[in-house]
Amino acid sequence: MWMGRARFCPVCAGELVSSPVHGRVRKACPACGVVLYENPASAAAAVVLDDAQRVLLVRRGIEPFLGAWALPAGYQEIDEHPHETVVREVREETGLDIAVDELFDLLHVPDDPRKPANLAIYLCRVVSGELRAGDDALEAAWFALDALPAEIGFHNREVVLQPLARRLGR
Ligand SMILES: [Zn+2]
Repeated sequence: MWMGRARFCPVCAGELVSSPVHGRVRKACPACGVVLYENPASAAAAVVLDDAQRVLLVRRGIEPFLGAWALPAGYQEIDEHPHETVVREVREETGLDIAVDELFDLLHVPDDPRKPANLAIYLCRVVSGELRAGDDALEAAWFALDALPAEIGFHNREVVLQPLARRLGR
């Protein structure tokens, strides 16, 4: 069972202990009674397609999956709609401004080494901008769906790019 690394109460800074609450073991504060109900992180990823149905990938400059290719993606800021998250992440990582067309899938990612997450994946297209690798990216490039790079992180190939290719009839 996944358990966060928090050791101290966010309310009174008392030391947390693990105890069964509402059906599972959770961190709780004996001093003030706060229970840490931990939730998945919220993240969003962009499937940006061009007119030739090539997909935009970035080569990651940070862990996890440092050096592997992946969809532009990132965590949702507390006051962002996930549409805004993908627009911001694509601009930061590739220099391109995109429009969001539709939700492609909503995945639960239980095995992200940082924290389990819900990942909203959007189909997008480029509106403007010049392609260049930005923050946290070593490279950014377009790939045909039948000529993807060998090393792809986060199971993007199996859970996103292969289903996308089937949907597009490729
Ligand atoms: Zn407390």
